[in-house]
Amino acid sequence: MSSAKANRRIALIGNPNTGKTSLFNILTGMRQRVGNYSGVTVEKKTGTWTMPSGESVELIDLPGTYSLSASSLDERVAVDVISGHGMGGQAPDLVVVVVDVENLRRNLFLASQASELGVPMVIALNCWDVAEKKGLQIDSKLLEQRLGVPVVPTVAKRKSGTDELAKTIEKALVTRPILVRPKWPEPVQKAIGSLREQLVEQRSESLSEGELQRLLFDRKSAVTERLKTPADEHQAIIEAAREQLYKDGFQPDAAESTLRFRFLNPLLNDVLERQSAMKKRSKSESIDQLLLHKFWGLLVFVGMMYVVFQSVYTWAGPIMDLIETVVGWVQGIASDALVATPMLQSLVADGIIGGVGAFLVFLPQILVLFFFISLLEASGYMARAAFLMDKLFQWCGLNGKSFVPLLTSFACAIPGIMATRTINDNKARLITILVAPLMSCSARLPVYLLLIGAFIEPKYGPNVAGAALFGMHFIGALVAAPFAWALNKTLNKGRKPMPFVMELPHYRVPQVKLVFHRMYESGKEFVVRAGTVIFAMTIIIWALLYFPRSTELEEEVTAEYIGQITQGAMSEISGEIQLDEAQSTELEEQISARYLEQSYMGRFGKFVQPIFAPAGYDWKITVGVLASFPAREIIISTLGITYALGGEVDEESDDLRSTLSNAKWESGPRKGEPVFNIPVALSIMVFFALCMQCGATLAVIAKELNWWWAAGSFVALTSFAWIAAVAVYQVGMLFVS
Ligand code: GDP
Ligand code: MG
Repeated sequence: MSSAKANRRIALIGNPNTGKTSLFNILTGMRQRVGNYSGVTVEKKTGTWTMPSGESVELIDLPGTYSLSASSLDERVAVDVISGHGMGGQAPDLVVVVVDVENLRRNLFLASQASELGVPMVIALNCWDVAEKKGLQIDSKLLEQRLGVPVVPTVAKRKSGTDELAKTIEKALVTRPILVRPKWPEPVQKAIGSLREQLVEQRSESLSEGELQRLLFDRKSAVTERLKTPADEHQAIIEAAREQLYKDGFQPDAAESTLRFRFLNPLLNDVLERQSAMKKRSKSESIDQLLLHKFWGLLVFVGMMYVVFQSVYTWAGPIMDLIETVVGWVQGIASDALVATPMLQSLVADGIIGGVGAFLVFLPQILVLFFFISLLEASGYMARAAFLMDKLFQWCGLNGKSFVPLLTSFACAIPGIMATRTINDNKARLITILVAPLMSCSARLPVYLLLIGAFIEPKYGPNVAGAALFGMHFIGALVAAPFAWALNKTLNKGRKPMPFVMELPHYRVPQVKLVFHRMYESGKEFVVRAGTVIFAMTIIIWALLYFPRSTELEEEVTAEYIGQITQGAMSEISGEIQLDEAQSTELEEQISARYLEQSYMGRFGKFVQPIFAPAGYDWKITVGVLASFPAREIIISTLGITYALGGEVDEESDDLRSTLSNAKWESGPRKGEPVFNIPVALSIMVFFALCMQCGATLAVIAKELNWWWAAGSFVALTSFAWIAAVAVYQVGMLFVS
């Protein structure tokens, strides 16, 4: 497999959104997520790249960063790797700086910082196609001469220039070219010298020249965390050096960028020629005048989202019907084939197919939704939406950078919470993590789809159904705003929020391949869930709803039934009675229903049901809600099994939606009335929108913060969800009756 000596390492660094991950994917053949906004890659990803010569090296894709001062967690990852403190203390053998040609100057700032750490370098001038289109001319040969490292134009999107880049990298591993470095003015040299003397010579810290620079230039450098010298002592030393620099006429916070740009600017003379670039730019700007407008922009956003949710209903319908038919058909076959073994028949037909099938039906709608989301992301629109939200965010203590994590949470809170690592303001990061689970994730989607499809669509049509789905996605966000505001108030200890800086990506025609890849990924995840978590839970829940079984119970119910139809008159000669077909079906249903009620889960559900009674839930819904605490989408399969086992599957159409609409209260004051009506459906949806029903999210919160925060948010969100569900039901019932 691997050779005796450790694999060589190459790291890809660069500003956000310059095409690092695209290049990484091309070279390693892997499929990391690419997105047209910054903050998509938050963790380093490694892969194996086989170089043209056949030798394998380890390639590392890093989160984007504008500088090495590393104020957020994701930037820290990048800095640690480059300076050799990330992966087992081994610095990369080479870094490839992926540069967006349109912002050459700013991108080279990072390259220049990295060169101070002494790593060999190759520069990829990516998005070369955009430069060409905009009439931007760059003399890459001249640039190469001046910088002292190889410079290769590439178009990662179209894989062009990447072979040349590969060859260049391989050569550079041998020649180890280093980027030219600025010569610092006397005062800077003096300040660094004093740091070297006190920290390296007197206190034997192992610090490179580049690391000393970071200590001097950055207000709070990550490098300090590695010092052995006690904090107050090293802070005093660093402060003194910065003080001296200030006295010598350099503002320490600004010195580096001033000096570095002063060094880089002449290197770029004559390299960059801009022709007719202004025209193109103004076109994109005029689109943004509308899309970023305080009022019209928001209107466009809401309108766009509305259309997206709408199409989830109108487009996916026929395919869903098809899947439902197939599931029903398979269920029939399995049921017939297993007639001889009733328990197995029940497990396979009612449990597995009933449970997993009920869940799988929603695949087409999930795909439609992700199709639109990836389209909006890839075009660069989503980043504009972040901009629009900034005002609202500031009001409740969030940061503009909270947008990407929150947007991601609409798919799943787990990557969303991980993405908060891009937020450099700790308080904003904390609040973002805590509200992320309120964003309506795709696991809630089947719940909405089921209930809206069963109760709202048939009555009010697809337009209202789409609006309801849109509304459900809005509720969590609506609750999140005051929730975040309150957190911000209580947690506040003075500090001003950091200003929001986010670069708007250029509008890009979405790559068809990427869009379909995103759809495929989300679809795959959904199907894999059906085959793993849902499948396993289905079996457990089926067992809890099936056992215990006793023949006595069956005899008891039979006797009761016969007593009922003969009005007691012929109870003496029972066993001789011939039931007609309708009667025996009815009897079977009664037996199933009684078994279900007597099952472990049935008894438990009935025991807990009073808690959910004010929200209008019967014991079956209660069972569904309880079973969904590990993962919310389990309610679908649970309801599927409950109703299949209860023998209530409708004759004409066996889909869950129509079964639910026919369900009646079996006992109590409302006996005979439908269990589900619109207030009940809304109440369930609201509960699922707000409740913290996700074990995995809790674990991630605990990992990113701690278990106290995880437990706190569980208690807070769950009780709040209950209150809201009860309120919705109670208010709704005022209108129904
Ligand atoms: P990263 O943030 O640096 O990892 O960048 P990504 O690889 O995620 O790419 C960001 C966006 O730029 C995506 O929308 C890519 O499709 C797009 N992109 C990448 N390389 C090129 C290129 O050479 N030309 C153009 N026009 N777009 C590119
Ligand atoms: Mg990336």
